[in-house]
Amino acid sequence: MKNKLVFATNNAHKLEEVSEIVKDTIDILSLKDIGCFEDIAETGTTLEENALIKARHIKEKYGYDCFGDDTGLEVDALDGAPGVYSARYAGEGHDFKANINKLLKELEGKENRTARFRSVIALILNGKEYLFDGKIEGVITKDERGTTGFGYDPVFQPNGYNETFAELGADVKNEISHRALAVKALCDFLNKR
Ligand code: IMP
Repeated sequence: MKNKLVFATNNAHKLEEVSEIVKDTIDILSLKDIGCFEDIAETGTTLEENALIKARHIKEKYGYDCFGDDTGLEVDALDGAPGVYSARYAGEGHDFKANINKLLKELEGKENRTARFRSVIALILNGKEYLFDGKIEGVITKDERGTTGFGYDPVFQPNGYNETFAELGADVKNEISHRALAVKALCDFLNKR
């Protein structure tokens, strides 16, 4: 039988991506489905803390078993920035375009453009907490390329590919991405129970 879990995210892109990956293992309830319309503040200083904050909020306030995730883009030439602050890199507006513009500006003239996406998922199930993670290495391109996906997808080119995530499209991204790997670890855990 499939597990029924709330996915604690307000990001419609993530909800769509993850729902597709887990469709054989988890029946996902969205925050809308449980009547949660508030913004859950990401006040942690690590991805793990933020993923737990989101999951604990839903468990404590709404009583559902659930999972939350947090993702960061770590750029080596910027000492790991924007990292846990990826959503707010260019300010509180969570503006994807402004974030990309700031990133490309910060990297102007820098030789090293290596980076990775790292995702952490926190699961709360039957009163216990579990963490899963996934990462993918790549480089930040000099220009935006492609139209699919969201966030930094137009400037992130995974190692082994000549295309950015935004050019590769959902099918390839959902096989190889940081979030896909973390979600697969979550599904493996649930399937073994
Ligand atoms: P969040 O806090 O997990 O929602 O992610 C932080 C920020 O990282 C998002 O606002 C996006 O800008 C970026 N991000 C997260 N996942 C992805 C992805 O799969 N592709 C591109 N950018 C992403």
